[in-house]
Amino acid sequence: MAGNILTHSSDPEGILTRKDLPMDEAPEILSLRPRKLSDYVGQPEVVETLEIAMSAAKKRNEPLDHVLFHGPPGLGKTTLAHIIANEMGGGLTITSGPALEKGGDLIGILTHLSEGDVLFVDEIHRTPKNVEEFLYPAMEDFAVDFVFDKGVHARSHRFRLGRFTLVGATTRVGLLSAPLRDRFGIFRSLDFYHEKDLVTIAKRSAALLDVIIDDSGAAELARRSRGTPRIVNRLLKRVRDYTQVRADGVITLPTVIRSLALEGVDEMGLTPLDRRYLETVIRFYGGGPVGIEAIAATLQEETDTLVDVVEPYLLKIGFITRTSSGRRASEAACKHLAIPCRRDPLFDREA
Ligand code: ADP
Repeated sequence: MAGNILTHSSDPEGILTRKDLPMDEAPEILSLRPRKLSDYVGQPEVVETLEIAMSAAKKRNEPLDHVLFHGPPGLGKTTLAHIIANEMGGGLTITSGPALEKGGDLIGILTHLSEGDVLFVDEIHRTPKNVEEFLYPAMEDFAVDFVFDKGVHARSHRFRLGRFTLVGATTRVGLLSAPLRDRFGIFRSLDFYHEKDLVTIAKRSAALLDVIIDDSGAAELARRSRGTPRIVNRLLKRVRDYTQVRADGVITLPTVIRSLALEGVDEMGLTPLDRRYLETVIRFYGGGPVGIEAIAATLQEETDTLVDVVEPYLLKIGFITRTSSGRRASEAACKHLAIPCRRDPLFDREA
């Protein structure tokens, strides 16, 4: 998952960032990744689908069908690709749609895959069209077609590939072309995690990091993690530092509250960027409806960041709604920020 790193003025520590930061590559954070399906917390339907599909494939001595995961960043798509490779006993190659600039890049990767290997393509919806075309025969017939020479002398040669499994991940399934989407045998959406699952993840990660966390501390950390395991792990590290320096080393409710206040993470888990987004919609655009481009321009943030990273959770908790005429902030959002909601009475009558 190496790639460009997005940093934002309002998200300097990368709490929301969708790309792995260098700290995600630190051995202790890598070691938090579950390696077996039985260690994967939550998402029971996804786990069951994979359990059945993997056992069936193993029984038939075949590679697993191609799998597509959809969902906001940090919910465990890459982790599942690792688990699939591990459980199926294949090697794992990781790349991303935007990294595959030319057909040759993909062919190079494909021709190095062996039978049963897993190719993980993150942000698969951003794969260039000319590269995507090489994926079709690779996925369907385990072959790539090379064309030699040009014009009347053109000859095509079919190169056989090892039967591999493609695991694709996307935050925006709507942007995937129909021919690509149709070539995946298994498609699962990952949803934000329930608090009890995040508590389990917080405790599991604390144990692996060799730090003690009590029940109330784990519950508070889970509540403030925007339903996202990656955020649990990142915040846990901050809280651990705080606790070791300013407290007695045991993570409790008061230490979580104090350290996350320093990080700007509020009691709903909203970050400064979430709050700036909501404030812009409420104060600047009278609560909406307002187009995403206008919000992005006012915030000086990229539209993709807002759509992929900020909005999914705000939609999930009902702080914003998406209508045909744009985004609207809800009463609950105004209440949370303690800003009176100013609504356009005409719009309310129409809505
Ligand atoms: P994505 O690919 O969806 O952006 P990742 O798979 O990189 O997300 O997950 C981010 C981190 O969250 C991982 O390093 C892993 O430690 C943790 N994580 C994700 N899903 C789970 C889970 N179900 N159980 C435990 N930890 C998880």
